[in-house]
Amino acid sequence: MLSGWREVMARRPWRISAKLLIISSVVTVIGFSAICVNVMLDMRRGEEALARQTLENLATTIESDIGRNVEIYDLALKAVASNMLLPELATVSKPIRHLILFDHAMTARHFGAIQVFDAAGKLTIDASTLDPAPENRSEEDYFKVHRDNPGAGLFISRPMLFRGAYSIVLSRRISDTDGGFIGVVAGSIRFSYFHELFDRLNLGPEDTITVLNRDRTIMMRRPFDLDVIGKNLGARQDWKADNLRAGGAYAGQGPVDTTPRLYVRSSGTSPLFVVAGKPLSAVFELWQKEAYRIGAVMVALILFMLGSTLVLAREIGRRAEAERKLEEMATTDALTGLRNRRKFDSVIDVEWRRAMRQKAPVALLMIDADHFKAYNDTFGHQAGDQVLVGIAICISDSVSRAGDCAARYGGEEFAVLLPNTSATDAFKVAEAIRAKVQGWSDDEVISTVSCGVASLVPTAGMDWAILVAAADKALYAAKAGGRNQSVVASLPKLSLVA
Ligand code: GH3
Ligand code: MG
Ligand code: MG
Repeated sequence: MLSGWREVMARRPWRISAKLLIISSVVTVIGFSAICVNVMLDMRRGEEALARQTLENLATTIESDIGRNVEIYDLALKAVASNMLLPELATVSKPIRHLILFDHAMTARHFGAIQVFDAAGKLTIDASTLDPAPENRSEEDYFKVHRDNPGAGLFISRPMLFRGAYSIVLSRRISDTDGGFIGVVAGSIRFSYFHELFDRLNLGPEDTITVLNRDRTIMMRRPFDLDVIGKNLGARQDWKADNLRAGGAYAGQGPVDTTPRLYVRSSGTSPLFVVAGKPLSAVFELWQKEAYRIGAVMVALILFMLGSTLVLAREIGRRAEAERKLEEMATTDALTGLRNRRKFDSVIDVEWRRAMRQKAPVALLMIDADHFKAYNDTFGHQAGDQVLVGIAICISDSVSRAGDCAARYGGEEFAVLLPNTSATDAFKVAEAIRAKVQGWSDDEVISTVSCGVASLVPTAGMDWAILVAAADKALYAAKAGGRNQSVVASLPKLSLVA
Protein backbone atom coordinates (compact mmCIF):
# COMPACT_ATOMS: atom_id res chain seq x y z
CA MET A 1 0.00 0.00 0.00
CA LEU A 2 2.76 2.36 1.05
CA SER A 3 4.87 1.56 -1.95
CA GLY A 4 1.82 2.17 -4.13
CA TRP A 5 1.58 5.65 -2.71
CA ARG A 6 5.24 6.25 -3.31
CA GLU A 7 4.76 5.36 -6.94
CA VAL A 8 1.87 7.77 -7.29
CA MET A 9 3.88 10.53 -5.63
CA ALA A 10 6.86 9.82 -7.82
CA ARG A 11 4.74 10.08 -10.92
CA ARG A 12 2.65 13.09 -9.90
CA PRO A 13 4.50 15.41 -7.53
CA TRP A 14 2.16 17.64 -5.49
CA ARG A 15 1.61 21.00 -7.11
CA ILE A 16 -0.75 23.90 -6.55
CA SER A 17 -3.58 23.77 -9.04
CA ALA A 18 -5.31 26.79 -10.57
CA LYS A 19 -8.57 25.76 -8.91
CA LEU A 20 -7.00 25.59 -5.46
CA LEU A 21 -5.43 29.01 -5.97
CA ILE A 22 -8.76 30.57 -6.99
CA ILE A 23 -10.59 28.93 -4.07
CA SER A 24 -8.02 30.14 -1.54
CA SER A 25 -8.14 33.66 -3.03
CA VAL A 26 -11.92 33.79 -2.88
CA VAL A 27 -11.89 32.51 0.71
CA THR A 28 -9.28 35.14 1.62
CA VAL A 29 -11.32 37.89 -0.06
CA ILE A 30 -14.50 36.81 1.73
CA GLY A 31 -12.72 36.62 5.10
CA PHE A 32 -11.00 39.95 4.55
CA SER A 33 -14.26 41.64 3.50
CA ALA A 34 -16.10 40.19 6.50
CA ILE A 35 -13.48 41.60 8.86
CA CYS A 36 -13.58 45.03 7.15
CA VAL A 37 -17.38 45.17 7.18
CA ASN A 38 -17.38 44.19 10.84
CA VAL A 39 -14.85 46.87 11.72
CA MET A 40 -16.84 49.49 9.79
CA LEU A 41 -20.09 48.50 11.47
CA ASP A 42 -18.32 48.73 14.83
CA MET A 43 -17.15 52.22 13.92
CA ARG A 44 -20.71 53.13 12.95
CA ARG A 45 -22.06 51.86 16.25
CA GLY A 46 -19.34 53.88 18.00
CA GLU A 47 -20.35 57.05 16.14
CA GLU A 48 -23.99 56.48 17.01
CA ALA A 49 -23.20 55.87 20.69
CA LEU A 50 -21.13 59.05 20.80
CA ALA A 51 -23.84 61.14 19.11
CA ARG A 52 -26.43 59.64 21.44
CA GLN A 53 -24.39 60.57 24.48
CA THR A 54 -23.79 64.09 23.19
CA LEU A 55 -27.48 64.59 22.41
CA GLU A 56 -28.54 63.20 25.77
CA ASN A 57 -26.15 65.55 27.55
CA LEU A 58 -27.45 68.48 25.51
CA ALA A 59 -31.11 67.60 26.13
CA THR A 60 -30.52 67.07 29.82
CA THR A 61 -28.66 70.37 30.16
CA ILE A 62 -31.50 72.23 28.44
CA GLU A 63 -34.06 70.41 30.54
CA SER A 64 -32.32 71.32 33.77
CA ASP A 65 -32.07 75.00 32.73
CA ILE A 66 -35.79 75.08 31.94
CA GLY A 67 -36.55 73.07 35.07
CA ARG A 68 -34.62 75.48 37.27
CA ASN A 69 -36.47 78.50 35.87
CA VAL A 70 -39.84 76.77 36.21
CA GLU A 71 -38.92 75.92 39.79
CA ILE A 72 -37.90 79.50 40.61
CA TYR A 73 -41.09 80.77 39.06
CA ASP A 74 -43.14 78.15 40.85
CA LEU A 75 -41.60 79.17 44.17
CA ALA A 76 -42.78 82.72 43.52
CA LEU A 77 -46.30 81.47 42.64
CA LYS A 78 -46.36 79.37 45.79
CA ALA A 79 -45.26 82.35 47.85
CA VAL A 80 -48.07 84.48 46.39
CA ALA A 81 -50.62 81.70 46.95
CA SER A 82 -49.70 81.36 50.62
CA ASN A 83 -49.21 85.08 51.25
CA MET A 84 -52.64 85.81 49.83
CA LEU A 85 -54.02 84.22 52.99
CA LEU A 86 -52.31 86.77 55.28
CA PRO A 87 -55.10 88.76 56.93
CA GLU A 88 -52.85 91.87 57.05
CA LEU A 89 -52.92 92.00 53.27
CA ALA A 90 -56.38 93.60 53.27
CA THR A 91 -55.29 96.41 55.52
CA VAL A 92 -52.05 97.54 53.83
CA SER A 93 -51.73 99.90 50.88
CA LYS A 94 -51.34 98.57 47.33
CA PRO A 95 -47.57 99.31 47.08
CA ILE A 96 -46.93 97.50 50.40
CA ARG A 97 -49.09 94.61 49.24
CA HIS A 98 -46.93 94.36 46.08
CA LEU A 99 -43.82 94.32 48.20
CA ILE A 100 -45.19 91.49 50.32
CA LEU A 101 -46.46 89.39 47.44
CA PHE A 102 -43.93 89.75 44.64
CA ASP A 103 -40.29 88.96 44.61
CA HIS A 104 -38.04 91.24 42.52
CA ALA A 105 -36.58 88.22 40.83
CA MET A 106 -39.83 87.84 38.99
CA THR A 107 -39.25 90.99 37.05
CA ALA A 108 -36.57 89.13 35.02
CA ARG A 109 -36.75 89.67 31.28
CA HIS A 110 -38.45 86.50 30.09
CA PHE A 111 -40.92 86.14 32.95
CA GLY A 112 -44.34 87.68 32.52
CA ALA A 113 -45.84 89.57 35.47
CA ILE A 114 -47.62 87.44 38.05
CA GLN A 115 -51.37 87.96 38.24
CA VAL A 116 -53.94 86.97 40.83
CA PHE A 117 -57.53 86.11 39.86
CA ASP A 118 -60.38 85.73 42.30
CA ALA A 119 -62.77 82.78 42.47
CA ALA A 120 -64.82 84.25 39.61
CA GLY A 121 -61.80 84.63 37.31
CA LYS A 122 -61.61 88.40 37.74
CA LEU A 123 -58.12 89.91 37.75
CA THR A 124 -57.52 91.39 41.20
CA ILE A 125 -53.79 91.92 41.52
CA ASP A 126 -51.14 92.39 38.82
CA ALA A 127 -47.42 92.53 39.66
CA SER A 128 -46.75 94.95 36.81
CA THR A 129 -49.23 97.62 37.85
CA LEU A 130 -51.02 98.86 40.89
CA ASP A 131 -54.25 99.50 38.95
CA PRO A 132 -54.80 96.70 36.44
CA ALA A 133 -57.41 97.01 33.72
CA PRO A 134 -60.41 94.74 34.30
CA GLU A 135 -59.91 91.23 32.92
CA ASN A 136 -61.70 87.94 33.31
CA ARG A 137 -59.95 84.60 32.80
CA SER A 138 -62.65 82.25 34.04
CA GLU A 139 -62.78 80.52 30.64
CA GLU A 140 -59.06 79.77 30.45
CA ASP A 141 -57.84 76.22 30.98
CA TYR A 142 -55.42 77.28 33.67
CA PHE A 143 -58.30 78.78 35.64
CA LYS A 144 -60.75 75.91 35.21
CA VAL A 145 -58.17 73.27 36.14
CA HIS A 146 -57.56 74.81 39.55
CA ARG A 147 -61.20 75.64 40.17
CA ASP A 148 -62.28 72.03 39.51
CA ASN A 149 -59.31 70.21 40.98
CA PRO A 150 -57.82 71.15 44.34
CA GLY A 151 -54.82 68.85 43.83
CA ALA A 152 -53.70 70.18 40.42
CA GLY A 153 -50.49 71.69 41.87
CA LEU A 154 -48.39 73.55 39.36
CA PHE A 155 -50.25 73.67 36.05
CA ILE A 156 -48.32 74.44 32.90
CA SER A 157 -50.61 75.52 30.09
CA ARG A 158 -50.34 74.89 26.38
CA PRO A 159 -48.36 77.60 24.61
CA MET A 160 -50.57 80.64 24.05
CA LEU A 161 -50.61 84.34 23.35
CA PHE A 162 -50.49 85.81 26.82
CA ARG A 163 -50.40 89.54 27.35
CA GLY A 164 -49.14 90.13 23.83
CA ALA A 165 -46.36 87.58 23.78
CA TYR A 166 -46.20 83.85 23.06
CA SER A 167 -45.72 82.18 26.39
CA ILE A 168 -46.49 79.18 28.49
CA VAL A 169 -48.60 80.01 31.53
CA LEU A 170 -47.70 78.59 34.93
CA SER A 171 -50.42 78.69 37.52
CA ARG A 172 -51.30 77.53 41.03
CA ARG A 173 -54.53 77.41 42.99
CA ILE A 174 -55.09 79.72 45.92
CA SER A 175 -56.99 77.85 48.60
CA ASP A 176 -58.18 79.14 51.96
CA THR A 177 -57.22 77.35 55.16
CA ASP A 178 -60.10 74.86 54.69
CA GLY A 179 -59.03 74.07 51.13
CA GLY A 180 -61.78 76.15 49.56
CA PHE A 181 -61.13 77.76 46.16
CA ILE A 182 -60.49 81.44 46.41
CA GLY A 183 -58.61 82.10 43.21
CA VAL A 184 -55.67 81.40 40.92
CA VAL A 185 -52.21 82.89 40.72
CA ALA A 186 -50.67 82.79 37.24
CA GLY A 187 -47.54 83.89 35.49
CA SER A 188 -45.82 83.18 32.20
CA ILE A 189 -42.50 82.26 30.68
CA ARG A 190 -42.12 83.91 27.29
CA PHE A 191 -40.86 82.13 24.20
CA SER A 192 -38.04 84.65 24.09
CA TYR A 193 -36.52 82.72 26.98
CA PHE A 194 -36.33 79.57 24.85
CA HIS A 195 -35.07 81.48 21.81
CA GLU A 196 -32.27 82.97 23.84
CA LEU A 197 -31.46 79.61 25.43
CA PHE A 198 -31.27 77.85 22.05
CA ASP A 199 -29.27 80.67 20.50
CA ARG A 200 -26.59 80.18 23.12
CA LEU A 201 -26.07 76.60 21.96
CA ASN A 202 -23.81 75.62 19.13
CA LEU A 203 -26.25 73.64 16.98
CA GLY A 204 -26.14 72.43 13.40
CA PRO A 205 -28.66 73.93 10.95
CA GLU A 206 -30.71 70.73 10.82
CA ASP A 207 -30.49 69.94 14.54
CA THR A 208 -33.74 70.08 16.46
CA ILE A 209 -34.60 70.77 20.08
CA THR A 210 -38.14 69.95 21.15
CA VAL A 211 -39.49 70.91 24.56
CA LEU A 212 -42.47 68.82 25.57
CA ASN A 213 -44.94 68.71 28.36
CA ARG A 214 -45.40 65.42 30.21
CA ASP A 215 -48.49 64.74 28.09
CA ARG A 216 -46.21 65.10 25.04
CA THR A 217 -47.57 68.47 23.88
CA ILE A 218 -44.88 70.42 22.03
CA MET A 219 -44.20 73.54 24.12
CA MET A 220 -41.35 74.85 22.02
CA ARG A 221 -39.26 73.68 19.14
CA ARG A 222 -36.17 74.70 17.31
CA PRO A 223 -36.32 75.47 14.40
CA PHE A 224 -39.28 77.59 15.47
CA ASP A 225 -42.57 76.92 13.70
CA LEU A 226 -45.79 78.27 15.19
CA ASP A 227 -47.83 75.54 13.46
CA VAL A 228 -46.02 72.83 15.34
CA ILE A 229 -46.24 74.44 18.76
CA GLY A 230 -49.10 73.00 20.80
CA LYS A 231 -49.27 69.76 18.78
CA ASN A 232 -49.64 66.63 20.88
CA LEU A 233 -47.31 63.78 19.96
CA GLY A 234 -48.77 61.27 22.41
CA ALA A 235 -50.31 59.32 19.56
CA ARG A 236 -47.05 58.93 17.68
CA GLN A 237 -45.56 55.51 18.23
CA ASP A 238 -41.96 56.83 18.37
CA TRP A 239 -42.81 59.46 20.97
CA LYS A 240 -45.04 57.36 23.20
CA ALA A 241 -44.09 57.22 26.84
CA ASP A 242 -43.12 53.56 26.81
CA ASN A 243 -41.12 54.07 23.65
CA LEU A 244 -39.25 57.25 24.41
CA ARG A 245 -38.37 56.93 28.07
CA ALA A 246 -36.03 59.26 29.94
CA GLY A 247 -32.63 58.90 28.27
CA GLY A 248 -34.25 56.84 25.49
CA ALA A 249 -33.56 57.30 21.79
CA TYR A 250 -34.84 56.35 18.38
CA ALA A 251 -33.68 56.90 14.84
CA GLY A 252 -36.15 57.79 12.13
CA GLN A 253 -38.52 60.46 10.90
CA GLY A 254 -39.55 63.16 13.33
CA PRO A 255 -42.95 64.71 13.97
CA VAL A 256 -42.46 67.70 11.67
CA ASP A 257 -40.30 66.96 8.65
CA THR A 258 -39.15 63.87 6.81
CA THR A 259 -35.44 64.21 7.61
CA PRO A 260 -34.38 61.06 9.42
CA ARG A 261 -32.73 61.98 12.70
CA LEU A 262 -31.39 60.43 15.84
CA TYR A 263 -33.72 61.65 18.60
CA VAL A 264 -32.62 61.41 22.23
CA ARG A 265 -34.70 62.31 25.26
CA SER A 266 -33.29 64.08 28.29
CA SER A 267 -32.92 62.03 31.43
CA GLY A 268 -34.09 64.60 34.04
CA THR A 269 -37.29 64.74 36.06
CA SER A 270 -38.53 68.30 35.36
CA PRO A 271 -42.17 68.97 34.44
CA LEU A 272 -41.00 69.67 30.91
CA PHE A 273 -38.64 67.36 29.07
CA VAL A 274 -36.46 67.89 26.03
CA VAL A 275 -35.77 65.81 22.94
CA ALA A 276 -32.65 66.70 20.96
CA GLY A 277 -32.44 65.54 17.34
CA LYS A 278 -29.54 65.36 14.92
CA PRO A 279 -29.86 64.32 11.25
CA LEU A 280 -28.48 60.82 10.69
CA SER A 281 -26.51 62.22 7.75
CA ALA A 282 -24.68 64.52 10.20
CA VAL A 283 -24.25 61.77 12.81
CA PHE A 284 -22.62 59.46 10.28
CA GLU A 285 -20.93 62.13 8.16
CA LEU A 286 -17.39 61.33 9.27
CA TRP A 287 -18.06 57.63 9.39
CA GLN A 288 -19.50 57.69 5.90
CA LYS A 289 -16.44 59.45 4.52
CA GLU A 290 -14.21 56.92 6.24
CA ALA A 291 -16.38 54.04 5.05
CA TYR A 292 -16.20 55.24 1.44
CA ARG A 293 -12.44 55.62 1.72
CA ILE A 294 -11.89 52.19 3.27
CA GLY A 295 -14.48 50.67 0.93
CA ALA A 296 -12.73 52.10 -2.14
CA VAL A 297 -9.32 50.85 -0.95
CA MET A 298 -10.88 47.47 -0.18
CA VAL A 299 -12.55 47.15 -3.56
CA ALA A 300 -9.28 48.14 -5.26
CA LEU A 301 -7.38 45.55 -3.20
CA ILE A 302 -9.95 42.84 -3.87
CA LEU A 303 -9.95 43.60 -7.60
CA PHE A 304 -6.16 43.57 -7.62
CA MET A 305 -6.09 40.30 -5.74
CA LEU A 306 -8.72 38.64 -7.92
CA GLY A 307 -7.03 39.99 -11.04
CA SER A 308 -3.62 38.71 -10.07
CA THR A 309 -5.15 35.40 -9.00
CA LEU A 310 -6.73 34.99 -12.41
CA VAL A 311 -3.46 35.86 -14.15
CA LEU A 312 -1.59 33.41 -11.91
CA ALA A 313 -4.23 30.73 -12.36
CA ARG A 314 -3.99 31.09 -16.14
CA GLU A 315 -0.22 30.90 -15.95
CA ILE A 316 -0.40 27.81 -13.75
CA GLY A 317 -2.88 26.22 -16.17
CA ARG A 318 -0.59 27.02 -19.08
CA ARG A 319 2.41 25.56 -17.32
CA ALA A 320 0.55 22.45 -16.31
CA GLU A 321 -0.50 21.95 -19.92
CA ALA A 322 3.08 22.52 -21.12
CA GLU A 323 4.36 20.05 -18.53
CA ARG A 324 1.77 17.52 -19.58
CA LYS A 325 2.82 17.94 -23.21
CA LEU A 326 6.47 17.67 -22.31
CA GLU A 327 5.83 14.55 -20.28
CA GLU A 328 3.85 13.08 -23.13
CA MET A 329 6.63 13.88 -25.56
CA ALA A 330 9.18 12.32 -23.24
CA THR A 331 7.17 9.12 -23.02
CA THR A 332 5.89 8.87 -26.59
CA ASP A 333 7.54 7.47 -29.66
CA ALA A 334 7.68 10.23 -32.23
CA LEU A 335 7.05 8.08 -35.29
CA THR A 336 4.22 5.82 -34.15
CA GLY A 337 2.66 7.74 -31.27
CA LEU A 338 2.91 4.65 -29.06
CA ARG A 339 4.71 4.66 -25.67
CA ASN A 340 8.48 4.65 -26.04
CA ARG A 341 10.86 2.14 -24.53
CA ARG A 342 11.61 4.27 -21.51
CA LYS A 343 7.96 4.57 -20.60
CA PHE A 344 7.42 0.89 -21.26
CA ASP A 345 10.18 -0.04 -18.82
CA SER A 346 8.66 2.07 -16.06
CA VAL A 347 5.15 0.76 -16.75
CA ILE A 348 6.19 -2.88 -16.74
CA ASP A 349 8.05 -2.23 -13.48
CA VAL A 350 4.92 -0.87 -11.79
CA GLU A 351 2.56 -3.49 -13.24
CA TRP A 352 4.94 -6.30 -12.36
CA ARG A 353 4.93 -5.35 -8.70
CA ARG A 354 1.20 -4.80 -8.68
CA ALA A 355 0.64 -8.24 -10.18
CA MET A 356 3.00 -9.65 -7.56
CA ARG A 357 0.91 -8.10 -4.78
CA GLN A 358 -2.39 -9.14 -6.31
CA LYS A 359 -1.09 -12.56 -7.38
CA ALA A 360 -2.53 -11.84 -10.81
CA PRO A 361 -1.06 -12.75 -14.22
CA VAL A 362 0.74 -10.25 -16.47
CA ALA A 363 0.93 -10.92 -20.17
CA LEU A 364 3.43 -9.56 -22.66
CA LEU A 365 3.32 -9.61 -26.45
CA MET A 366 6.52 -9.09 -28.41
CA ILE A 367 5.69 -8.19 -32.00
CA ASP A 368 8.24 -8.01 -34.80
CA ALA A 369 7.71 -7.05 -38.44
CA ASP A 370 8.59 -9.89 -40.81
CA HIS A 371 11.32 -9.44 -43.40
CA PHE A 372 11.45 -5.83 -42.73
CA LYS A 373 14.98 -5.35 -43.88
CA ALA A 374 13.91 -6.61 -47.29
CA TYR A 375 10.94 -4.24 -47.30
CA ASN A 376 13.22 -1.33 -46.57
CA ASP A 377 15.63 -2.40 -49.22
CA THR A 378 12.88 -2.64 -51.80
CA PHE A 379 10.67 0.34 -51.02
CA GLY A 380 12.97 2.59 -49.11
CA HIS A 381 13.24 3.58 -45.47
CA GLN A 382 10.40 6.08 -45.58
CA ALA A 383 7.90 3.58 -46.91
CA GLY A 384 9.17 1.26 -44.17
CA ASP A 385 8.40 3.97 -41.62
CA GLN A 386 4.84 4.19 -42.93
CA VAL A 387 4.43 0.46 -42.45
CA LEU A 388 5.64 0.85 -38.87
CA VAL A 389 2.99 3.55 -38.32
CA GLY A 390 0.36 1.23 -39.78
CA ILE A 391 1.42 -1.62 -37.50
CA ALA A 392 1.24 0.77 -34.52
CA ILE A 393 -2.32 1.71 -35.48
CA CYS A 394 -3.29 -1.97 -35.75
CA ILE A 395 -1.81 -2.58 -32.31
CA SER A 396 -3.49 0.33 -30.55
CA ASP A 397 -6.80 -0.53 -32.21
CA SER A 398 -6.62 -3.99 -30.70
CA VAL A 399 -5.54 -2.96 -27.24
CA SER A 400 -8.13 -0.99 -25.36
CA ARG A 401 -8.17 -1.86 -21.65
CA ALA A 402 -7.21 0.85 -19.18
CA GLY A 403 -4.01 -0.71 -17.81
CA ASP A 404 -2.76 -1.96 -21.21
CA CYS A 405 0.43 -0.43 -22.55
CA ALA A 406 1.50 -0.65 -26.19
CA ALA A 407 5.05 0.53 -26.91
CA ARG A 408 7.59 0.64 -29.65
CA TYR A 409 10.27 -1.56 -28.18
CA GLY A 410 12.93 -0.66 -30.72
CA GLY A 411 13.41 -0.62 -34.52
CA GLU A 412 10.55 -2.62 -36.01
CA GLU A 413 9.75 -4.36 -32.74
CA PHE A 414 6.74 -3.63 -30.55
CA ALA A 415 5.79 -4.70 -27.05
CA VAL A 416 2.30 -4.87 -25.56
CA LEU A 417 1.85 -5.26 -21.82
CA LEU A 418 -1.52 -6.70 -20.76
CA PRO A 419 -1.97 -6.74 -16.97
CA ASN A 420 -4.39 -9.27 -15.49
CA THR A 421 -4.47 -11.29 -18.70
CA SER A 422 -4.00 -15.05 -19.12
CA ALA A 423 -1.87 -16.60 -21.87
CA THR A 424 -5.01 -17.65 -23.73
CA ASP A 425 -6.49 -14.18 -23.73
CA ALA A 426 -3.13 -12.63 -24.61
CA PHE A 427 -2.85 -15.04 -27.53
CA LYS A 428 -6.24 -13.84 -28.77
CA VAL A 429 -5.03 -10.26 -28.69
CA ALA A 430 -1.83 -11.22 -30.51
CA GLU A 431 -3.80 -13.00 -33.19
CA ALA A 432 -6.13 -10.03 -33.55
CA ILE A 433 -3.15 -7.74 -34.10
CA ARG A 434 -1.53 -10.14 -36.50
CA ALA A 435 -4.73 -10.52 -38.54
CA LYS A 436 -5.29 -6.79 -38.59
CA VAL A 437 -1.78 -6.09 -39.90
CA GLN A 438 -2.18 -8.70 -42.57
CA GLY A 439 -5.59 -7.40 -43.56
CA TRP A 440 -4.49 -3.82 -43.60
CA SER A 441 -1.49 -4.33 -45.97
CA ASP A 442 -2.18 -3.66 -49.58
CA ASP A 443 -2.44 -6.57 -51.92
CA GLU A 444 0.83 -6.12 -53.74
CA VAL A 445 3.15 -6.20 -50.80
CA ILE A 446 1.85 -8.03 -47.81
CA SER A 447 3.39 -6.93 -44.53
CA THR A 448 3.06 -9.34 -41.67
CA VAL A 449 4.14 -9.56 -38.08
CA SER A 450 5.15 -12.40 -35.79
CA CYS A 451 4.08 -12.40 -32.12
CA GLY A 452 5.60 -13.96 -29.05
CA VAL A 453 3.15 -14.33 -26.19
CA ALA A 454 3.98 -14.91 -22.52
CA SER A 455 1.85 -14.68 -19.38
CA LEU A 456 2.74 -15.50 -15.80
CA VAL A 457 1.91 -14.72 -12.18
CA PRO A 458 5.01 -13.12 -10.69
CA THR A 459 6.23 -14.44 -7.37
CA ALA A 460 8.57 -12.83 -4.85
CA GLY A 461 12.10 -12.34 -6.06
CA MET A 462 11.13 -12.77 -9.73
CA ASP A 463 12.27 -10.07 -12.15
CA TRP A 464 10.19 -8.87 -15.08
CA ALA A 465 13.14 -9.56 -17.40
CA ILE A 466 11.97 -13.18 -17.20
CA LEU A 467 8.68 -12.24 -18.81
CA VAL A 468 10.44 -10.27 -21.57
CA ALA A 469 12.85 -13.12 -22.20
CA ALA A 470 9.97 -15.63 -22.38
CA ALA A 471 8.01 -13.47 -24.84
CA ASP A 472 11.19 -12.95 -26.87
CA LYS A 473 11.79 -16.62 -26.97
CA ALA A 474 8.24 -17.26 -28.16
CA LEU A 475 8.78 -14.60 -30.83
CA TYR A 476 11.86 -16.40 -32.09
CA ALA A 477 9.84 -19.55 -32.14
CA ALA A 478 7.21 -17.80 -34.27
CA LYS A 479 9.91 -16.60 -36.68
CA ALA A 480 11.40 -20.03 -36.81
CA GLY A 481 7.94 -21.50 -37.39
CA GLY A 482 7.54 -19.56 -40.61
CA ARG A 483 6.58 -16.05 -39.46
CA ASN A 484 3.11 -14.38 -39.59
CA GLN A 485 2.01 -16.30 -36.53
CA SER A 486 1.68 -16.05 -32.77
CA VAL A 487 3.37 -18.43 -30.40
CA VAL A 488 2.69 -18.74 -26.67
CA ALA A 489 5.64 -19.35 -24.41
CA SER A 490 5.12 -22.61 -22.56
CA LEU A 491 4.97 -22.40 -18.76
CA PRO A 492 7.10 -25.44 -17.93
CA LYS A 493 9.91 -23.74 -19.80
CA LEU A 494 9.29 -20.57 -17.79
CA SER A 495 9.54 -22.30 -14.50
CA LEU A 496 12.85 -23.70 -15.70
CA VAL A 497 14.04 -20.20 -16.52
CA ALA A 498 12.93 -18.97 -13.12
P1 GH3 B 1 12.70 -10.93 -39.62
O1 GH3 B 1 12.42 -10.06 -38.45
O2 GH3 B 1 11.51 -11.40 -40.27
O3 GH3 B 1 13.60 -12.06 -39.23
O4 GH3 B 1 13.48 -10.15 -40.72
P2 GH3 B 1 13.90 -8.70 -40.58
O5 GH3 B 1 14.38 -8.20 -41.87
O6 GH3 B 1 12.82 -7.86 -40.03
O7 GH3 B 1 15.11 -8.85 -39.64
P3 GH3 B 1 15.87 -7.87 -38.71
O8 GH3 B 1 15.19 -7.79 -37.38
O9 GH3 B 1 17.26 -8.38 -38.75
O10 GH3 B 1 15.81 -6.49 -39.42
C1 GH3 B 1 15.29 -5.35 -38.85
C2 GH3 B 1 15.29 -4.30 -39.83
O11 GH3 B 1 14.29 -3.35 -39.56
C3 GH3 B 1 16.57 -3.52 -39.87
C4 GH3 B 1 16.21 -2.19 -40.34
O12 GH3 B 1 16.42 -1.99 -41.67
C5 GH3 B 1 14.71 -2.15 -40.11
N1 GH3 B 1 14.38 -1.06 -39.25
C6 GH3 B 1 14.67 -0.98 -37.93
N2 GH3 B 1 14.17 0.21 -37.44
C7 GH3 B 1 13.58 0.83 -38.47
C8 GH3 B 1 12.92 2.07 -38.59
O13 GH3 B 1 12.77 2.84 -37.68
N3 GH3 B 1 12.40 2.42 -39.80
C9 GH3 B 1 12.56 1.59 -40.86
N4 GH3 B 1 12.04 1.99 -42.02
N5 GH3 B 1 13.17 0.47 -40.76
C10 GH3 B 1 13.69 0.04 -39.59
MG1 MG C 1 13.79 -7.23 -35.44
MG1 MG D 1 11.95 -8.19 -38.21
